[in-house]
Amino acid sequence: MLLKSKIDKLKDIVDMSDVLTDNAELYCYAEDSTSAHSVRTLPDAVVFVKKAEDVQNILRYANSNKIPVISRGAGTNMVGACTCPKGGIVLNFSRMNKILDFNPIDMTMTVQPGVILDDIKRLADSEGLFYPPDPSNYKVSTIGGSIAQSSGGASGFKYGTTKDYILGLTVVLADGTLMKLGSGTIKDAVGYHLNQLIIGSEGTLAVVVEAKIKLIPKPQSRRSVLGYFDSLENAACGVNNIIKKKIFPAAIDFMDNNSIRTVEEFYPCGLKTDKEAMLLIDIDGCEASMSYQQKCVQDALEQAGASDIQIAVSAEEIENIWIARRASFAATAKLAPDVLSDDIIVPRSSISKMVCACKDICNKYSLKVCMVGHLGDGNIHPQIALNLEDDSEFKRYIQAKSEIYNLAISLGGTISAEHGVGVEKISYINNIVDNSAIEYMKKVKSIFDPNNILNPGKVFKI
Ligand SMILES: Cc1cc2nc3c(=O)[nH]c(=O)nc-3n(C[C@H](O)[C@H](O)[C@H](O)COP(=O)(O)OP(=O)(O)OC[C@H]3O[C@@H](n4cnc5c(N)ncnc54)[C@H](O)[C@@H]3O)c2cc1C
Repeated sequence: MLLKSKIDKLKDIVDMSDVLTDNAELYCYAEDSTSAHSVRTLPDAVVFVKKAEDVQNILRYANSNKIPVISRGAGTNMVGACTCPKGGIVLNFSRMNKILDFNPIDMTMTVQPGVILDDIKRLADSEGLFYPPDPSNYKVSTIGGSIAQSSGGASGFKYGTTKDYILGLTVVLADGTLMKLGSGTIKDAVGYHLNQLIIGSEGTLAVVVEAKIKLIPKPQSRRSVLGYFDSLENAACGVNNIIKKKIFPAAIDFMDNNSIRTVEEFYPCGLKTDKEAMLLIDIDGCEASMSYQQKCVQDALEQAGASDIQIAVSAEEIENIWIARRASFAATAKLAPDVLSDDIIVPRSSISKMVCACKDICNKYSLKVCMVGHLGDGNIHPQIALNLEDDSEFKRYIQAKSEIYNLAISLGGTISAEHGVGVEKISYINNIVDNSAIEYMKKVKSIFDPNNILNPGKVFKI
């Protein structure tokens, strides 16, 4: 808790009508989309920043007074990455939400950090362009949060993640210095790529105040193929069969039976609730290639024992299926007071083993799990519905989580594909990252942020 005098000093830096200090309002900033972390400390103040200079002035003041500063977009990350374990000042970017430039010839857009991903996608689409990164909640999450988490999504299989679409960043360092990183051109071989270091750093190295993003031409056509399976193993086999066909789908997503049933109850759309698993495959490209790609996917699914294969061709049909898939987190949240969505990834060849083991481990600990995932990447999201107030259930959850992580690591995978570390996975990072690499990360952190004011207590312990 900061002295009131230190908070009052903010009035010399920003307009106090842009500052929240009332506990009732600060309470909203003690959490984000995961409620698992044990620390629910309030920040001391929240500032609605409007321009880079506000961020610079606040950081200069915070750095000289060693006050923690936590950047916050929409607060939807799932690892406690914008919680405030040490109090401090939250920078709320919802008023820095302008698209500053859109150049369809260069296929670039320059945006402030508070811009919602959907706004970027829709503006790009209006000129036949495409911004692929699509965390399932892209209609609410911000580009600043996405950059800090290097968010992925269903399209990661073909199109990569946020890190592949950032050409340049303007950031504010812990001491208030404004720094431009990257040239903003498609290629750039001058010096170290410090912008790539900022991407995925969860707000611990610098604060992003502007980003120049790369767009690509929008594929001419798109279809969704949906297939149902009687076992998780067969669904995993379906993924491998598609890969063997040497085509490149835009997405290969998955839902297990619990997810199918939970979603169908929440958002009735005709999903087959008696099936053990469902694969949702998007193909895209030029119209002439659609029938060939569709046939390859259908054959691959049939060879794996799929039934009830359905094809969605119109934009409306495709969107309807994807709404169902994206609704799985909200639907799971109806099963218990809390839901914790995890994020492991294994090599594709181990998908079957990992998916089946996740289910068995959750059964062993009597936990309700709904599994979804971007299976083309080997990325599985076990969504566990539980009551965090129930100590015994929480202990069982921690045991299950450790077993799931250990298995993912033993299969050559890792404990986060796209959600990051935050506070949630901080005690597991040593299981997967070399000690010497963690020491180097700490050195990098101390160069960027010697007083450890930027999002302290996240990623690794200092
Ligand atoms: C229902 C649901 C589905 C999801 N699906 C996916 C998915 O499919 N794929 C995926 O990758 N993720 C997914 N996520 C998580 C996803 O990473 C986040 O939702 C999103 O990318 C974060 O955006 P945000 O604006 O909410 O960021 P926040 O949660 O506000 O912040 C995330 C991190 O970014 C930092 N940050 C925010 N703004 C800045 C800034 N300007 N400068 C520096 N640091 C900053 C914060 O300090 C924090 O560390 C999902 C989340 C939900 C709730």
